[in-house]
Amino acid sequence: MELLAKLSNIPGVSGFEHEAQRLVGDELRPYADELSIDRLGNVIALRKARKPSREKPYRLIYCAHVDEIGFMVSAIDERGFIYFVPIGGFDARTLPSHRVTVYGTAGERPTTIEGVIPGKPGWMTDDEDRKRVIPMDELFVDTGLPPERVKAAVQVGDVINLSKQFEVLNDEIVTGRNFDDRIGTYALVESFRRIENNTVDVYAVSTVQEEVGVRGAPTAAHAIQADICVAIDGSLPSDIPFAKSHREQCPIGGGTGIYLMDNRTIGDRDLLRGLMDTCEKHGIPFQRNIGGGTDASVVQRTGSGAKATTIGAPTRYMHSTVQMCHVRDIQATVDLLTYFPQYAHLILPDDWN
Ligand SMILES: [Zn+2]
Repeated sequence: MELLAKLSNIPGVSGFEHEAQRLVGDELRPYADELSIDRLGNVIALRKARKPSREKPYRLIYCAHVDEIGFMVSAIDERGFIYFVPIGGFDARTLPSHRVTVYGTAGERPTTIEGVIPGKPGWMTDDEDRKRVIPMDELFVDTGLPPERVKAAVQVGDVINLSKQFEVLNDEIVTGRNFDDRIGTYALVESFRRIENNTVDVYAVSTVQEEVGVRGAPTAAHAIQADICVAIDGSLPSDIPFAKSHREQCPIGGGTGIYLMDNRTIGDRDLLRGLMDTCEKHGIPFQRNIGGGTDASVVQRTGSGAKATTIGAPTRYMHSTVQMCHVRDIQATVDLLTYFPQYAHLILPDDWN
């Protein structure tokens, strides 16, 4: 829980992942044979094959995106209210009443300023307002500070992050602002520490800028030229009142989700079989998931191509501040990633070189 909380609480809006990547690098380094950070900021750790299935070991990429959605300051008005543009896919309906942190760079040294995104107060609201969602460009951050204090600390281009921290909600239920994809980052780090008897070289890649259109993964994929890719991201549980019952998939607590398909990738059939066989062999609970779209798509189509799909704990309310996961699903994800490298070579044809 401690590592999970640490990895979830550190800020890392897309394009501004340096601090988060430093932490991920520090957590991976003691377990890596090699570790590097590429030009875009992807952290790449290698654990060489301990029981290679052939002379030149096959290469397996595990990747999880470290970036989270956030905002950039676009204007500060004469009263000190801060306007912003989204970085990544926010739903404007979910934003009013949230606490945010502004990472100011206008002063001599960086400072953080706390603020709130308010909704329109009830006593100012008419019937028309009640039917209307406040659009993103009308929302603002109120710090309560006088304009000169705000402008001394904050300038256009500074980053704003939601300030919600990791919490154990009830027993094995956890909540946080960025479980898409810090749960994946956690599973990446934790499994990498535990891998044994791997027949393939395992690359743990903490990618940047996934939330703005899978922009970070291509350079890492190019550098590694993998044979297999398992991305780690949230599965989509629809075990909530908003979903129609015939559409229910991936309830939380039911195990890790294995992506059969998403908007960008059709899961490789041999890889799906290999992952499910690993689960069955080790008693790891899993579920079939149809997902959104992940870094796997990029690795799949880089170089000569790779067998690719995604796995991950079902994550309720992604891209909101109340994302929710079950510890059992996170554990199942870690277990699958830990054991699969013992069998990964079995899914590849003999004539791949
Ligand atoms: Zn994601």
